[in-house]
Amino acid sequence: MLKCILCKSFSPAIICRTCQSIYLQPQLHTRILSDGFKVYSFYRYQEISPLLTTKHTMIGHQVYQILSRHTFKKFAQHFDDEYSLFAIPIDDQSQGGYSHTAILAHALKSKQIKPLYRAIRAKNRVSYSGKSLAYRMEHPRDFEVKIKGNNHLILVDDIVTTGLTMMEARKAVENSGQSPIFGLCLADAKEF
Ligand SMILES: [Zn+2]
Repeated sequence: MLKCILCKSFSPAIICRTCQSIYLQPQLHTRILSDGFKVYSFYRYQEISPLLTTKHTMIGHQVYQILSRHTFKKFAQHFDDEYSLFAIPIDDQSQGGYSHTAILAHALKSKQIKPLYRAIRAKNRVSYSGKSLAYRMEHPRDFEVKIKGNNHLILVDDIVTTGLTMMEARKAVENSGQSPIFGLCLADAKEF
């Protein structure tokens, strides 16, 4: 038996059912980035930041699985569009044996949405965590796009902060002939 990481009670899952129902109620937020691209997210960063910071630890994989079931999976179940779309995790290079953005994209798998892995990769892998906007702008991700044809895409990331990564990914896929429709993130870290 595991212990719930939030309330420390014994639980079969790393976040117990009670804590899941209390803390993981998603609410769909919409943000329009400065280039006009729409990004939907399910939580505000502060609401779940202790969970998001597990991503580089041993339990990150399980935490992201649980988060994805409450958010991306439900989104896909209610999604209805005339087009089929590919869900593209942004920079899903695995770290510590898994990729947190790939877990999220995987949860979108449904009749209309098909996850496509390793479709865009950052050539510049510098960490933006805690860096200034100026630093981020001087060190673009430089995405390499590996999808062919003209497809409708959902761009998937875990956190949207300044929106720069999302906008850069959008531009890169558009330049290679793709049609990104919107972005989907777990959490929005904008100060509200
Ligand atoms: Zn709990």
